[in-house]
Amino acid sequence: MAGVPKVLHISGYQSCGFYVRALGVLRSLALLFPTRLKVVPHEFSDRASFRSWLLDDDGGFRNTFTRDIRAREQVTAPFVWFAPSDDGHDVEDFLGGHDDTLAWCREFMSPRDEIKPNYPVADMMDDGYTKDHGYDYDLVVIGGGSGGMAAAKEAAVLGAKVACLDFVKPSPAGTTWGLGGTCVNVGCIPKKLFHIGSLLHESVRKDTPSFGIRLGEPNGASATDELSGIVPDPSTQMRWELVRENIQNYIRGLNFKYRVRLREKEVTYFNKLAKFTDKHTIEAVDKKGRSSLITAARFLVAVGGRPSPLSCEGAEHAISSDDVFAMEKCPGKTLCVGASYISLECAGFLAGMGLDVTVAVRSILLRGFDRECADKIGDYMVDHGVRFKRDVIPSKLEKIETGQTKVLFSDGTEEVYDTVLAAVGRMADTDKLGLESVGVETNPKNRRIIGKFEQTHCPNIYAIGDVLDKTPELTPVAIQAGLYLARRLFGGDKEAMDYQNVCTTVFTPIEYACVGLSEEDAVAKYGQNNIEVYHREFVPLEWSLSMSRSHNAAYTKVIVDKSPQENVLGIHYVGPNAGEVMQGYGTSMKQGLTLKTLTDTVGIHPTSSEEIVTLSITKSSGEDAAAGGC
Ligand code: FAD
Ligand code: NDP
Repeated sequence: MAGVPKVLHISGYQSCGFYVRALGVLRSLALLFPTRLKVVPHEFSDRASFRSWLLDDDGGFRNTFTRDIRAREQVTAPFVWFAPSDDGHDVEDFLGGHDDTLAWCREFMSPRDEIKPNYPVADMMDDGYTKDHGYDYDLVVIGGGSGGMAAAKEAAVLGAKVACLDFVKPSPAGTTWGLGGTCVNVGCIPKKLFHIGSLLHESVRKDTPSFGIRLGEPNGASATDELSGIVPDPSTQMRWELVRENIQNYIRGLNFKYRVRLREKEVTYFNKLAKFTDKHTIEAVDKKGRSSLITAARFLVAVGGRPSPLSCEGAEHAISSDDVFAMEKCPGKTLCVGASYISLECAGFLAGMGLDVTVAVRSILLRGFDRECADKIGDYMVDHGVRFKRDVIPSKLEKIETGQTKVLFSDGTEEVYDTVLAAVGRMADTDKLGLESVGVETNPKNRRIIGKFEQTHCPNIYAIGDVLDKTPELTPVAIQAGLYLARRLFGGDKEAMDYQNVCTTVFTPIEYACVGLSEEDAVAKYGQNNIEVYHREFVPLEWSLSMSRSHNAAYTKVIVDKSPQENVLGIHYVGPNAGEVMQGYGTSMKQGLTLKTLTDTVGIHPTSSEEIVTLSITKSSGEDAAAGGC
């Protein structure tokens, strides 16, 4: 509250140098900032009288701190605490001794609030938290994925007593995995590693011949092929079993590291499945079905989501992204059902490994993304060998004698596949969490938790990551929301998580990254006449020597409004290393980027990112977007 100072009490004795110094610093701050701080000293003439006041079993002051272990362990001067009244009895919080007090003073003086005036502030409900709450933990995190682990560790670093429960329910096909959640086990990490492997494989086939690299040939082999421009495809093979094994071993290493990191930060880890029994209690069940109760002042739900199954007859014959990365046998001829991130990324790396891959598209590719960019990805994937079956959904899956799956499509056609991968969206993993019993509301469409500033309708229960409704389902979003929430709950911060202008990358064979609005969304928001699009098609230099690549143009577009400063509304890039290219533009967008700032930036030559800062062709001019270049 503005104008009401925080009241800080400090006790000690006159000959104690630490007490005198801490009191001096506090008094100076109170003098400089009288509206923010009031200091009340409780000074004793000597050490004996101080200790008797502090420690005496019959009414010694420390008895006031019934549960605060740190307060009960502090036996030296100064002893510093917060209490609104001048007598200091109505204790709010314990601050610490000399070092804690000086650290607090430094924080008090920190200009953080002043340099971030425009950052969103989280106006959360009071959740009734007090330090002497009497529960087992200050915070229990349910779900040890990207978001849950980040929040648990941060809260522990800030002094909270934290436990984290993580339990993996096997997929319908029986796949299971270790600590770390979706990203590390069945998401970003295995996906990107398969993607990189597949790009390398593609590069070996398509690019290395043009660079004079001859695999398996002795040095000095004939250069006839390259002189004639007819380059052979080096005979290469990407072996599923080998790459799968190496990736899974790497993941097992990460699972172990995550456990160690939780332990290092003093977060208690339970490999148990949690369910609420009341708003301060969960039932935790281990693998053997043994159950126990755990209580906490605050809970954080970070249980993520799981793949939605197909709804047609025989849906059980399809696997999902929970299974594909760990398949013992090569998936072989594969049908990927769905046309968004997961389906296209999986189709891309499987085709890059040399497999026969079809994508069943119900409507459009990459709903929600810029149409033009999504279509360029589709075109590239067709060149890459992926087949698209448009405007269909599977209507029946049937296992046949060969062990393969026969798929009947909605257009009446049918085909046999070795593997059918369903990637038709994800549902929050909340149905058996007991959320109804504690008044936490979910969205019936996707089971995601409804909340504001990561706080649910039950004020001491919070939610982050894929489980929180209307937020992007991305690992860095879950992590950032977890860190910010922990700092607000246990570090006195106020800053809200900003879900706007989050960069994302689709790791398809030609990658695509963007930040801000798509062209369609910009038109819908500002009107066609109020926006301009700058764009360019180009050939990335690293692909320019390759006979089999040069027709695959990369593309970038920047959408601006038509205000005098031409604010940048969206940046899109289709080409190699898209994630690496886009990250820095994301930072600029957070600062409010204009076209002038963008094009005033001197490029790095010769790179693909340079194309973005040198854009000059507008769509409205009708000029060819492929013109220009050095
Ligand atoms: P999760 O990581 O899903 O963690 C939730 C954890 O809670 C899980 O371990 C789960 O087993 C556990 N749990 C569930 N219920 C309980 C319970 N009752 N008790 C105890 N534990 C429980 N994002 C990106 O940013 N970049 C990418 O390239 C990317 N690629 C992806 C590829 C695929 C195939 C998929 C599926 C996702 C991808 N994502 C990507 C999304 C990213 O993985 C998620 O956004 C992120 O993992 C969400 O983190 P989370 O902490 O919310 O949940
Ligand atoms: P999405 O919800 O993004 O897309 C689902 C896709 O399945 C759409 O193409 C949809 O088509 C289609 N579909 C839905 N129902 C059916 C059906 N019954 N039959 C056929 N097709 C159907 O889900 P994803 O699983 O691809 O991704 C989930 C989230 O995971 C993403 O939003 C993303 O945030 C995250 N993720 C991020 C990645 C990254 O950062 N690189 C990678 C992978 C995932 P339609 O358009 O017609 O509705």
